[in-house]
Amino acid sequence: MRIVLLGPPGAGKGTYASRLTVKLGVPHISTGDIVREEIRKETDLGKKIKDYSDRGVLVPDEIIIKLLAERLKKPDCNEGFILDGFPRTISQAEALEEIAKIDLVINLVVPDEIIITRLSNRLICSKCGAIYNLLTLKPKRDMICDRCGGNLYRREDDKPEVIKKRLNVYRRRTEPLIEYYSKKGLLRNVVCNDLMIPPEDIIKKIIGIIKRCKELRNY
Ligand code: ADP
Ligand code: ZN
Repeated sequence: MRIVLLGPPGAGKGTYASRLTVKLGVPHISTGDIVREEIRKETDLGKKIKDYSDRGVLVPDEIIIKLLAERLKKPDCNEGFILDGFPRTISQAEALEEIAKIDLVINLVVPDEIIITRLSNRLICSKCGAIYNLLTLKPKRDMICDRCGGNLYRREDDKPEVIKKRLNVYRRRTEPLIEYYSKKGLLRNVVCNDLMIPPEDIIKKIIGIIKRCKELRNY
């Protein structure tokens, strides 16, 4: 199944997608991770896009569409994928239609206060990318990854001024996709309005939606 996870920054797309990928056996494709990897490798492209990412604004459509198209060509995507952080604009959604047929869009509905609290407490593993949260998903050892022992860090764009900026960008550029996909009959909402809801509960809801969608379409 080809699934898109939609929702504001900090809605939990990465956290849920990294667990869903294990349960569903299809790859988790995060354009944010692809962008950070290019930056880390200091490729020409990476140097070009670092500034956008650090400021919390979108990388130009043509760059991100090309990166994503390359990723979706890999054979591990044949049986489906979970997209996290793409599409983020109407023109990205239109480009995606040319590349793959999307079966389902899960829209995570999360109030701003929760997003701000979550992102200001978020830590990422520099080695394996695992996501932690000082309030809800604390690592067992201070600043060390439970899974691989790597060092944890705070993302450059998780600073309060940048978080506000990213939320504005989301409202303006990405939120129109909710209507775009609901008109196509592909959108399902999952509401997360409590900071302390365990990720597993949300995953269960998402899996339920995916199962019903599969039954309907005879997968
Ligand atoms: P968030 O936690 O805000 O959802 P991501 O990790 O998905 O952030 O992305 C980090 C940054 O990478 C974004 O702020 C943006 O600069 C860039 N980026 C990721 N995906 C896209 C996309 N689909 N279109 C444009 N820029 C993107
Ligand atoms: Zn790790």
